[in-house]
Amino acid sequence: MPNPTPKSWLPSANTPHCDFPLQNLPYCAFRTEGMHPHIGIGIGDSILDLNKLSRTGLFRKLGWDIRSACRSNTLNSLIELGTGPASLLRETLTHLLSTSAMPAQVDKVKPTLRPIEGAVFCKPVSIGDYSDFYASIDHATNVGKLFRPDEPLLPNYKYVPIGYHGRASSIRLSGEPIIRPSGQIKNRSSEAPEFCPTAQMDYELEVAAYVRGGRWIKINEAERYLFGISLLNDWSARDIQSWEYQPLGPFLGKSFATTISPWVVPIEALAPYRVPLASRPTGDPTPLPYLTTTEPSAIDLHLEVFLTTQSMRGASLPPHQLSTANLRDLYWSFPQLIAHHTSNGCNLRPGDLLASGTISGPTEGTKGSLLEITQRGTTPLTLPNGETRTFLEDGDEIIFQGHCERPGLPRIGLGDCRGTVTVKKSL
Ligand code: MN
Repeated sequence: MPNPTPKSWLPSANTPHCDFPLQNLPYCAFRTEGMHPHIGIGIGDSILDLNKLSRTGLFRKLGWDIRSACRSNTLNSLIELGTGPASLLRETLTHLLSTSAMPAQVDKVKPTLRPIEGAVFCKPVSIGDYSDFYASIDHATNVGKLFRPDEPLLPNYKYVPIGYHGRASSIRLSGEPIIRPSGQIKNRSSEAPEFCPTAQMDYELEVAAYVRGGRWIKINEAERYLFGISLLNDWSARDIQSWEYQPLGPFLGKSFATTISPWVVPIEALAPYRVPLASRPTGDPTPLPYLTTTEPSAIDLHLEVFLTTQSMRGASLPPHQLSTANLRDLYWSFPQLIAHHTSNGCNLRPGDLLASGTISGPTEGTKGSLLEITQRGTTPLTLPNGETRTFLEDGDEIIFQGHCERPGLPRIGLGDCRGTVTVKKSL
């Protein structure tokens, strides 16, 4: 495990509540003046431009393949190089940004930094395929109770990680407006559905992993196929979803938009926060051998969801916290999801995205969607300014945040994942 104490020569990286200390170094992509996007890493209040840094001579020992990956518009080339080169790059960056860097090195790094404030981010990865899972047993149980009070969990849940193939083309970057979708909606009173805007716009708190390529990946090797993680909002139109989902699962109720945060936190940065997957309650079946691992494969990652409405922002009220959760509460871990996804011979490609599914916890205040919080719209929630919500209204903004924290270690944050619900201006 790397020494957790080194500090950066960049003062903003050493402040206690900073999301991006030297131990994080999350990747991103950002627009440069009139140029193609560059990839970079977050440090303190700044972005280090990897494209620029690769031209300073400081990467001479790293090899042309890593230098070339640093000059790409997305992280795909770096992901494709595998764990060795990515770790080598990370070690080099850690050294160059730490107080142990030589003054001559610092002088070369400084001009490659730019402020995060004012940066225009781009999608960090060109995502070929996106799959969404259902790995939180608390979420599955909460939702199951709404539809089947007598049998909330279906008999397959504890054996097979449930998932579906999502839509990569409509993945949006944090901050892009989310246009309220229209679709077939059937009210209980009428026999036929009508085509109209959704009245049940919802979010889903999720964490997503960018993966390396491979198939038939063994559970004990699955860890090294993880490149990094981001926050993900799987926007859902519940009324469209409930009419269309049988028998083949979600379709247009989900595919209109999915928001990702701009930062990709490397899996190496999360090493100090790895914890064993929670042991299964007595009576639960042991996973089949291809899904069984003794490695610690959960991540102790604290998550938060906030809502602001148009009138809250007008009155300068702070965002209201809707819930918290922790990634360690998942029933299925990311290595299990990777092993399962590829177990039939399906190939993952570098930069594919696997999302956890809505993350809810076992206690009050840990429900990861409005569907659960308002009991499918039957118990509205009241906001501090007296407004109520069952589902999202136009102008509502949803913000996700996440961080790892442990005494003696610096805090590592994931940055924000934001989206505001808007209406389509014209047809
Ligand atoms: Mn989902």
